[in-house]
Amino acid sequence: MIYDEDLAGQMLKRQEMESLMYKALASREFQIWLQPKYDLKTKRTIGAEALVRWNSPELGFLLPSAFMDLFEKNGFAVELDYHVLELVCELQTARLRQGLPVIPIAVNQTGLHISEQGYIGNMREIIDRWRLPAGLIELEITETAFIDFTTKEQRNDAAQIIDDLQEIGFSLSMDDFCTGYSSLSMLQNLPMNVMKIDRSILIAAESTARSFRILRHVIALGKALSMNVLAEGIETEEQEKHLIALGCDSGQGFLYARPMPAQEFYEEFLPKHS
Ligand code: C2E
Ligand code: MG
Repeated sequence: MIYDEDLAGQMLKRQEMESLMYKALASREFQIWLQPKYDLKTKRTIGAEALVRWNSPELGFLLPSAFMDLFEKNGFAVELDYHVLELVCELQTARLRQGLPVIPIAVNQTGLHISEQGYIGNMREIIDRWRLPAGLIELEITETAFIDFTTKEQRNDAAQIIDDLQEIGFSLSMDDFCTGYSSLSMLQNLPMNVMKIDRSILIAAESTARSFRILRHVIALGKALSMNVLAEGIETEEQEKHLIALGCDSGQGFLYARPMPAQEFYEEFLPKHS
């Protein structure tokens, strides 16, 4: 019985979110928080990842874990991603207009874009409209985004999409690298700029010598392919030390900084860490 009540409660919550999501978009309830990325050796900030938060008057302050699954299922994630991209363009433009320092910001892309009609055209339109200098916006695409779930194979238009996005001027990160079941075929066919090694690999590397060796060789593989290798979810100095020893270039994680409101990042954090 308790289970049923839980289930009913969850369904109600989902319905409530669905009834509020468009209003939330229009009234700017979705906010971007920024988590710094840093050079492991110099400890300087080299960029940031935009992570969406929903500050809802009705539902409270929500992390992506509370709503992203639902938005992936109902398709709203596509619109939310465009909105986040617009917010990041707006932020970068405002800084440039005021003559203030700017740093590349990465925007996450749901895998739904890959099968969306007009994705490349929409991305081009946004970038052309804001007229930002190249290099200030990056995209993070999860490695499973390019898998066709019916055939379990890489979609045959994947390489073209990567090519088109890079041609528009986006630098591309392969997000959550090593969590999917096709990491090697992704590397083979999709030349992206950055390899983001998932936190789970760092954690595994701490427990067995075999996993540590895998981490070492994944880093070497990324570098051999001329990718910038970034480790995600660094929480301890021990992890950071190992990554430096293994030749990893850059990192992101609670050890260096947690995600923070965009204004705090630019006005307080960056001046002290650049
Ligand atoms: P992600 O892209 O892999 O982002 C990294 C997540 O790891 C973030 O969670 C970040 O807060 C968290 N993290 C960073 N450092 C550490 C650490 O040292 N330890 C631990 N335990 N966690 C760390 P967050 O902000 O809750 O976002 C979760 C996921 O939601 C993201 O994973 C991304 O897949 C998705 N997401 C966030 N914003 C967007 C967006 O605008 N669009 C889309 N499509 N997805 C988004
Ligand atoms: Mg990401």
